[in-house]
Amino acid sequence: MGSGQVTDWQGRHVTVAGLGVSGIPAAKVLHARGAVVTVVNDGDDARAREQAAELEALGITVRLGDGATLPKGTELVVTTPGWKPDKPLFEAARAAGVDIWGDVELAWRLRGPEAPPWLAVTGTNGKTTTVQMLASILAAAGLRTAAVGNIGVSLLDVVLGEEQYGDLDVLAVELSSYQLHWAPSLRVHSAAVLNLAPDHLDWHGSMEAYAADKGRIYEGNRVACVYNVADKATEDLVREADVEEGCRAVGFTLGTPGPSQLGVVDGILVDRAFIENRQQNAQELAEVSDVNPPAPHNIANALAAAALARAFGVPAAAVREGLRNFKPDAHRIAHVADVDSVAYVDDSKATNTHAAQASLAAYESIVWIAGGLAKGATFDELVAKSAKRLRGVVLIGRDRALIREALARHAPQVPVVDLDRTDTGAMLAAVQEAQRLAVAGDTVLLAPACASMDMFANYNKRGDAFAQAVGELGAGA
Ligand code: ADP
Repeated sequence: MGSGQVTDWQGRHVTVAGLGVSGIPAAKVLHARGAVVTVVNDGDDARAREQAAELEALGITVRLGDGATLPKGTELVVTTPGWKPDKPLFEAARAAGVDIWGDVELAWRLRGPEAPPWLAVTGTNGKTTTVQMLASILAAAGLRTAAVGNIGVSLLDVVLGEEQYGDLDVLAVELSSYQLHWAPSLRVHSAAVLNLAPDHLDWHGSMEAYAADKGRIYEGNRVACVYNVADKATEDLVREADVEEGCRAVGFTLGTPGPSQLGVVDGILVDRAFIENRQQNAQELAEVSDVNPPAPHNIANALAAAALARAFGVPAAAVREGLRNFKPDAHRIAHVADVDSVAYVDDSKATNTHAAQASLAAYESIVWIAGGLAKGATFDELVAKSAKRLRGVVLIGRDRALIREALARHAPQVPVVDLDRTDTGAMLAAVQEAQRLAVAGDTVLLAPACASMDMFANYNKRGDAFAQAVGELGAGA
């Protein structure tokens, strides 16, 4: 199918792999453009049947209960990003020389000639926050923009000009490693990789494959490839990328920036990349206290967002205003309450060890509530790096023994309460135990380093349970 925008779909046989959030709109739009669409889906439950009936009423063929066999005559597969690359359907497509596109690739190919440029963000942690900060900065500069992509806003809806996204100047796009894997021809204005730590390795097969997929975000960048000076792997990806002539590598650092970097000097966020005479000069962008919350990893997110905005030509004053206007989403280092001079902080979104480590680094003396589903992670590095900040630990959830053992190895002096519970009510007990361990000035931090699904429907519900439990402490105080 080449690598450009595709305008003529008439009579093309397209297989859409997977019903669901991206599959259904993809099937509809391709059908509307004249393609002969077949949707294949592994599941065959009541919901799938309902969705299938809706598509069949439009004239789209749907095959339920078999997502493995490639329909005869397929010229292109459009897949749900989450489907693993080693599925037989994809092997059959590759063997037949048929291209496979994900939702982002499809959006990229269907965008119109006047489509707004994309400023894109990926990384193991901090994507959503950074993209929202970026959108806030762009808006402060008077640009019409939206935070889209993996953040929960379908790029297909955006490029097709659904009403609420009409007429934008620029997009702040969050991309997951899955989406990047399936987006071979994406070429954005500028992009940032925030950090790289092992995650989703069962899907990608190896750390190298995961990093390579993240690195695709830099391919063909026109203006800037933004990397994390403290995370060499991100800089390596820039070096390996094939970019447009004149595209620059721009680093961000929590330390003093060198030329072509953004960084921090005496509590001020400064730009030494997008200014005249960057050997001698630096431009003040904002103060650390303008970043909400001003935790180190979040300042890194702010610098990455600022770098992308500056690459797009946004003035320094808009960076400050955009950062000040930014409100973090719930459950991301959210200050819930102070009870008896102890702060209670909900970072339920810290669902892996890399995120939890960033969160633990933001406080001096912590009672840490952790545990849940480990997803194959190990906890030695996290515990060893955080040991000196721990006043105490309360463990909940199915895989808590893994954390307990790491604590025994690297922080044997730290008191640990192992709740041995996975019921929903365990959160109240955990918070009460944490209160007992904490002394004035401490932070009780929910940063579980694990997924929540052993005890809760999702990380939101886990954070809500924490906040509710803290509320009950306050009421009794
Ligand atoms: P993502 O969209 O990549 O999951 P979020 O912005 O939703 O990222 O943040 C998820 C969690 O990751 C946060 O709750 C915080 O614990 C952690 N986090 C955020 N930014 C960073 C960062 N730059 N480095 C490490 N951890 C981070």
